[in-house]
Amino acid sequence: MYTYINNMGNTVRENTRERENTHMFSDKVKKLLNEQITKEFYSAYLYLDFVNYYEEQGLKGFANWFMVQAQEERDHALLFIKYMQNNDIKVTLEAIGKPDVVMKKHIDALCASLTHEQFVTASIHTIYEAAYEDKDFRTMQFLDWFVKEQAEEETNANDNIKKMELFGTDSKGLYMLDQEMGARVYTPPSLVL
Ligand code: MG
Repeated sequence: MYTYINNMGNTVRENTRERENTHMFSDKVKKLLNEQITKEFYSAYLYLDFVNYYEEQGLKGFANWFMVQAQEERDHALLFIKYMQNNDIKVTLEAIGKPDVVMKKHIDALCASLTHEQFVTASIHTIYEAAYEDKDFRTMQFLDWFVKEQAEEETNANDNIKKMELFGTDSKGLYMLDQEMGARVYTPPSLVL
């Protein structure tokens, strides 16, 4: 709250937060942003399930790859929370679903990760579309990073499937592939809010 004298000589009190934050977000965009938090945390949860599976299978490299992936997904969720907080949009944390991918073969989790990333891409595009319709340029600009990130996620998931199809059927090939997956290192997201 702050006070000033207007041109009529009257003392006016104003809420400074409202004055500073003139950008308007539609209820639809706010709802979709909030829902995306749950989806990103679910992604982390799903990939942690894959970590457990590969650990059980003795494929520590694959487990490492998905642990890094899970950390990235947590970061995505936190970026959505931060963006909403920065813009005074109320954050409501919802329940995270139980991962239910059945893994019978080593390639199953890799295929499931591609399907899941395609789902997340569609979700990001849905928010973008809603922001675009509203001329909500701020949200569009925030989502630009995620649009690019999703393209990378799908490429990585595709590459993993191709490599597994090519080399994973032979035990020596699988060993080498596990070594390669084990080399992945976590780095914080390049987007800073
Ligand atoms: Mg993500």
